[in-house]
Amino acid sequence: MSTRTPLMAGNWKMNLDWKQGLALVEELGEQLKDVDTSKVETVVLPPFVDIRTVQTAVEAGKLPIAYGAQDISEHESGAYTGEVSGPMLSALGCTYVAVGHSERRQYHGETEQITNNKVKAAFAAGLTPILCVGEPLEERKAGKHVEYTLAQLEGGIEGLDVEQAKQIVIAYEPVWAIGTGEVATPDDAQEVCAAIREALQAIYGAEVAGAVRVLYGGSVKSANVAELMEKQDVDGALVGGASLKAEEFAKIAGFQG
Ligand code: PEP
Repeated sequence: MSTRTPLMAGNWKMNLDWKQGLALVEELGEQLKDVDTSKVETVVLPPFVDIRTVQTAVEAGKLPIAYGAQDISEHESGAYTGEVSGPMLSALGCTYVAVGHSERRQYHGETEQITNNKVKAAFAAGLTPILCVGEPLEERKAGKHVEYTLAQLEGGIEGLDVEQAKQIVIAYEPVWAIGTGEVATPDDAQEVCAAIREALQAIYGAEVAGAVRVLYGGSVKSANVAELMEKQDVDGALVGGASLKAEEFAKIAGFQG
């Protein structure tokens, strides 16, 4: 286990309208009363239309939950119909934003360049990007998972300065493990998370590499989180399905017992 503060981020994806989102975040606040929240950072990433409600609930209840968005526009403002900008998200009290999720890459044609622009748009708005990287099944079968993932990492962080690099969160999410119930083994997760840290060290030096939190994502649940978190280079989890149930997600946040 690492010395970095663990981060458990729940990606709600396109689930829960604002009323359901409100119920979930309030219930999560209740469930987190059993968790030592000074030892773990708990984050939710609701759909855009739920964020204002989540903000109100978190502020009113002083809940130990940070929140953010699942995507961000590359642009700051203007004629980009349907987009939501970084400044709009920070005005809602968001602190995190997922960038380059495999579903964005796969279904919305997000290229390395777009992902890199979004990482920079997040920093420009004072948000911390959670940059998602990870290989599809064919690359894993071909033994090219590390190479593939590091190429996405390098594309995503291109042009960041040292301060930005120190702050970014990287989520290693093998595509074959997302929403499939097929979790990577702790050793598989460690192999790639360690390779990500080594790549950061080669580019930015030991201080940055030692500071960056590298999460694992892909079918994480309360039943498998502890063994993943035992690994030296796994600093938390990006959680999809299991973040939609307050009790289950609170158990994930409370993996330290
Ligand atoms: C995700 O959406 O990032 C994810 C890891 O999903 P799941 O936990 O459902 O596999």
